[in-house]
Amino acid sequence: MEMDTEKNKVQGGTLYLVATPIGNLADLSARALKILTEVDFIAAEDTRNTAKLLVAYEITTPMVSYHEHNRCARGEEIVDRLRIGQSCALVSDAGTPAISDPGEDLVRACIDAEIPVTAVPGCCAAVSALTLSGLSCARFAFEGFLSGTPGQKRKHLETIRSDRRTLIFYEAPHRLIDTLDLLYAVFGERRIAVVKELTKRNERVLHTALSRAGRYYKENPPKGEYVLVVEGAKSRTDDFASLSVAEHVAFYEGTGMSRMDAMKAVAKDRGIPKGEIYKQMLEEKDEDH
Ligand code: SAM
Repeated sequence: MEMDTEKNKVQGGTLYLVATPIGNLADLSARALKILTEVDFIAAEDTRNTAKLLVAYEITTPMVSYHEHNRCARGEEIVDRLRIGQSCALVSDAGTPAISDPGEDLVRACIDAEIPVTAVPGCCAAVSALTLSGLSCARFAFEGFLSGTPGQKRKHLETIRSDRRTLIFYEAPHRLIDTLDLLYAVFGERRIAVVKELTKRNERVLHTALSRAGRYYKENPPKGEYVLVVEGAKSRTDDFASLSVAEHVAFYEGTGMSRMDAMKAVAKDRGIPKGEIYKQMLEEKDEDH
């Protein structure tokens, strides 16, 4: 690894996608600081928000706003300025631009106009949450915010129910409980890490099971910013397929569930009635003798 002084110099006519902190101001990289200081202008999702970052770092670069509602007209203006050789840093309120934030349209417009685009990487809540989850990081899918009506959200989840990758969702605190309940209703029992307030004083990771997560937040109302990291379908289906019914029930009891709840969860996983679980456990016992 080396400091590439050439790459760190601001080039005219270039769009820089600059990641900013997701809570802890100290998480701005040295390169991000340099680029934000030296570009001709900063395009910010919310200029008042970004002003706090600029004040903290004594950056005086002029800003324009670029957000969901002005992205067409403002995007064209930004491309025009880039075309005549100005440099621009795009930032969102927090984290990496274009990740559940404005940016992808501007990147596409620059690619179409053959304007160079480069990334100044840094914070991204999804990636930090994944690494803290204790779940598989080998393959994962970022789902962002679930959107639409409850029915549309359910349909969306049904399309990814058998996805074997670890799944990452963003969620607002006032929708957290409904989303956790919906995840359980569609996915059945799985491990989940609920990652709260990354990089801030109240950072916390709740490692639990989908059946218990909604209940936990009904007793402890959610406050702050959350990322949900949900175990993919693969390991469970494979593991459970190799388990006897009794072992499967014991697995859930080991997560703290009552025998009744464990049997319900097993019935759901195996797609059979709960009464059948009890019967099969007795049959397995008979076979053992
Ligand atoms: N562009 C950002 C990124 O790179 O992570 C994401 C912006 S999105 C509009 C905001 C959502 O990201 C929040 O609702 C929350 O789900 C997640 N998020 C952002 N900061 C967070 C933090 N400090 N702790 C936990 N989640 C966070």
